[in-house]
Amino acid sequence: MSWKLKQKAQALLAAEQGTVYRDWGGRVSIALVYPNTYAVGMSNLGFQTIYRHLNALPAVVCERVFLPEPADLDEMRRTSTPPLSLESQRPLTDFQLIGFSVTYEGDYINVLRLLELAKIPLRAAERRYHDPLILMGGVCAFSNPEPIAPFMDFIVVGEGEELVGELMQAYREGYRERETFLDGLVRLEGVYVPERHDVTYAPDGTVADVRPQRGAPPIVVKRRLKQVDEFRTIAAVKTPNAEYGHMALLEVGKGCGRGCRFCLEGQVYRPVRHRSVAALSATIADLAAQGEKRIGLVGACVSDYPWIGELLKIVEDNGMELSISSLRADSLTDDLVASLARGGHRTLTMAPEAGTERLRRAIRKAITDAQLMAACDLVRARGIPNLKCYFMIGQPTETSEDVAAIPDLAGRMLERLRVLDPTGKPFGKLTLSISSFVPKPWTPFQWAPFDGAESLSAKLETIKRGVRTFSNVRVLHENPREAALQALLARGDRRVGDFLELAARLEGDWRRALREWDGDAGFYTTRERPVGERMPWDHFEVGVKKAGLVREWERALAAEPALAGTA
Ligand code: SF4
Repeated sequence: MSWKLKQKAQALLAAEQGTVYRDWGGRVSIALVYPNTYAVGMSNLGFQTIYRHLNALPAVVCERVFLPEPADLDEMRRTSTPPLSLESQRPLTDFQLIGFSVTYEGDYINVLRLLELAKIPLRAAERRYHDPLILMGGVCAFSNPEPIAPFMDFIVVGEGEELVGELMQAYREGYRERETFLDGLVRLEGVYVPERHDVTYAPDGTVADVRPQRGAPPIVVKRRLKQVDEFRTIAAVKTPNAEYGHMALLEVGKGCGRGCRFCLEGQVYRPVRHRSVAALSATIADLAAQGEKRIGLVGACVSDYPWIGELLKIVEDNGMELSISSLRADSLTDDLVASLARGGHRTLTMAPEAGTERLRRAIRKAITDAQLMAACDLVRARGIPNLKCYFMIGQPTETSEDVAAIPDLAGRMLERLRVLDPTGKPFGKLTLSISSFVPKPWTPFQWAPFDGAESLSAKLETIKRGVRTFSNVRVLHENPREAALQALLARGDRRVGDFLELAARLEGDWRRALREWDGDAGFYTTRERPVGERMPWDHFEVGVKKAGLVREWERALAAEPALAGTA
């Protein structure tokens, strides 16, 4: 066991506030694993919330585990040190349950790498009675968990706040051996036991059928938190070693009613549930009493929170500064921007997503250019020096004009930001953050083909060329090849699990795994799917009606606006 790695864990702990240390005696032990680095995992509010809820259960001890930094992997191999929990530095195999919290499909490979590093057999079917039970939750668990399903004993489908308590209770009271435990679990709403669903494939390679076995329901229904006020969703642990570690994160509600046609979160977290002002006010007062100075409001679309004005006042009345990660240009108000400016915000972030109004209407993010310009006016008038805008390339119906319009729009925004400058001070920076569109399950664009890495790279070049003459515009983007990987995993079926296993065995080298895998990535990514095709996730029910998605897909292709009430 590496002393260096233990010391590193202790240094991280020493910098934290709010860490929970529990005695193991007589308690059910669960390792809560974020399959990415400490800095990424500790910025995730869902992960932090489940850590807090699990440790609030008297009969449970929950400790965190993260993917080691690349430099630490060599040390682990050299000293034969397995992945260790942070709190007590115990190996993963000491825990009775190992729960992965997965927010990004790209982290699937890291899930398997961690199991391999811990010397736990990867596939559920290969594990023995003394191995820990492996489970997974997070948004990937209820969009399409099929590529990773062969490696999970069970999967928590939906919002876990209530369900984790029931699962721990069931384990404590009923765990004698795996099969009888799973017999009980398949009857719980929101629990998916992959081995109790047999998948068959048609000659053309699509999913033919998914048959439930041994008490499993034919359709697995998402668990939804009905009373959002009953569970506080706030970060439990503060740390300077994570991006948002310096502020208290607070979720204002779940879901978003806007219905942008590309957006997974806007679909699978339905219906929209806002926390009440009274509940948030009580939480903010508690946080202020604990000495918190800065609060980060979190939600699918925070500026749509119906009582945002009242909330801003409550934050300020408690002497706290405010932070919000991204805002909609069409729900920005002067009060909100002013409050962010007083809170020390140096950058305001918006997501126009497309360069033209036509494409914005097609993706159902119908923000007008005039609204974007008005947002620039507010930003400049309130003295926020930097603006960041998210765009997405490769969306359905996109043309070369839509791509060329992104630098053009950037130029007009820049001009507007400068025009309003009353002091003649130069405006800071306009950042264009360009992502590649990845078709997601449960959205109207689930049938759309992925654009392909080469086409996306060419579009990125067009944008970069277009802004070259602007001195204070910078372009950030991911590698389109990584988007291609995400596209494979987002809409893959169980056979994609072979690719994941290969990538894990190759120590995460997914490019090589793609070359060596005998599956056809294009079948899952760049192929347009007919609306009648059975999707790998059709045996789940997350509260989204397929007929509504088909209507929205057809409307997008026909360039028609959305019907009222289809959000
Ligand atoms: S506004 Fe659109 S993109 Fe943003 S969360 Fe809502 S549905 Fe998703």
